[in-house]
Amino acid sequence: METETVYLNGDYVPLADAKISVMDRGFLFGDGVYEVIPAYSGQLFRLEDHLERLDKSLRAIRLQNPHSHEQWLNLLTPLLKKGLDQSVYLQITRGTAPKRDHAFPQNVTPTVFAMVTGITPHSDPDNGVKALSMEDSRWKLCDTKAITLLANVLLRQAAVDNGCTEAILFKDGYLTEGAASNVFAVIDGILMTPPKSSAILPGITRDVILEIARKNNIPCSEQAISKADIKKASELWITSSTREIIPVVELDSEKVSGGKPGPVWKTFYKLFQEHKQSLR
Ligand code: PMP
Repeated sequence: METETVYLNGDYVPLADAKISVMDRGFLFGDGVYEVIPAYSGQLFRLEDHLERLDKSLRAIRLQNPHSHEQWLNLLTPLLKKGLDQSVYLQITRGTAPKRDHAFPQNVTPTVFAMVTGITPHSDPDNGVKALSMEDSRWKLCDTKAITLLANVLLRQAAVDNGCTEAILFKDGYLTEGAASNVFAVIDGILMTPPKSSAILPGITRDVILEIARKNNIPCSEQAISKADIKKASELWITSSTREIIPVVELDSEKVSGGKPGPVWKTFYKLFQEHKQSLR
């Protein structure tokens, strides 16, 4: 699905006509935040959770939310195609300042942009993806969904250069997350993921998976996971709003769960689809 009409600063315009100034602080400094919200059959999924995370990101960069949650719903809805599964990308920057200066400009209106793209969740029960473990080279504000993603871009590209789909990141010997995903591991029969902290983005998909686990009495734990723990994992997953739950079947050229998606992934794939279906 190609992006056709986008939202920019109050207008719905064809993508090709959406233009911003080169003085925009998003362009010059990466001074902005974003959200990615899936929509199933045209219905935004966990909108309130995404908007609360947006509020937190905006507070972290000391920028006021230009819209109420209700205004966001009204603003995003016209972009969605009825009946389709899509995702909304929205971005707010500190706006276009008269000169390039690191300090915040005064009386500048934020730039607000949103577009919709198709989503392709992983649904193949026979195949998974390869991942590469890497040192987490990012900054200390990883819980802020900042558009400043250069480290994530370089990490993901290093994974791709090695024939992998995602980089799985470790800081001081402990798992943080993926370049654009959270990570889950099944270790000794328990579904584990690192606890929320400033070292990871608090993924909405991560929350959904933990809720599903608790509701179904599937043992799960939010705890520190070392590199040695990961070596013992019988399953490894990466999770995000646009791709849901992806089984990692090879890490650093070594097979995980025998090179096939594991039984816990299969259970969660089914439960996640049922959860989505119940909201349609
Ligand atoms: N961590 C990072 C670094 C991400 O960029 C993302 C989203 N792409 C996630 C985790 C997953 O978050 P969510 O489930 O809310 O999409």
